[in-house]
Amino acid sequence: MSLLFAVPPAATIPVAGQDVRCGIGRIFCVGRNYAEHVREMGGDPARGTPIFFDKSPSCLVEDGARIAYPPATLDLHHEIELGVVLSEGGRDVSEADAARLIAGYTVALDMTRRDLQAAAKKGGKPWDMAKSFDHAAPCSMLIPMPGVALEQGAITLDVNGERRQTGDLAQMIWSVSETIASLSKLLALMPGDMLLTGTPSGVGPVAPGDSLHGAIEGVGTLSVSYAEAV
Ligand code: MN
Repeated sequence: MSLLFAVPPAATIPVAGQDVRCGIGRIFCVGRNYAEHVREMGGDPARGTPIFFDKSPSCLVEDGARIAYPPATLDLHHEIELGVVLSEGGRDVSEADAARLIAGYTVALDMTRRDLQAAAKKGGKPWDMAKSFDHAAPCSMLIPMPGVALEQGAITLDVNGERRQTGDLAQMIWSVSETIASLSKLLALMPGDMLLTGTPSGVGPVAPGDSLHGAIEGVGTLSVSYAEAV
């Protein structure tokens, strides 16, 4: 059946080594998943249950992109994160069974309008607009690793060649498998879901003209830059 009016196509990302693209239907993010980052944000890293929020898949930007500095912020922050893409869905998935859903991994950035987030938190209001806005999710190609629950590997972010964030996937408070299991208790996971698994400490501001380079050991790299102010 034809559509009432044209809408943008579904979001997709390239797949390493294959002449296909991977559809990304939804993007879910985990908050506060590295203790040092929780502390730098003024929080208590006591382990409770994971905090989830989402970003629209329309936020995706490909590796190598030059991005316009977003509107409505004077404090855009970088958060380098491991992305997990699912090839299968499920509800009430057990931690032991979670790896079966995994298609592979990406290197991603959870770009954040920190000033909007801080104002929303202070006012007890939702902070969606701090997280889900145009170009807020730069993402590498998918590295296929079906069935693999990645549990360690260095994760870093450089801005203009200077190291800003350093951590290891082993420092995640909730592992990839625990995150999948937890989210599947809140909603039905679907093929094409991508989970951003939180950021290590060292988050900070990005200025117009900055170049960002992220890397995750065993996964790959992501490079994007921000346009100069006009
Ligand atoms: Mn994040």
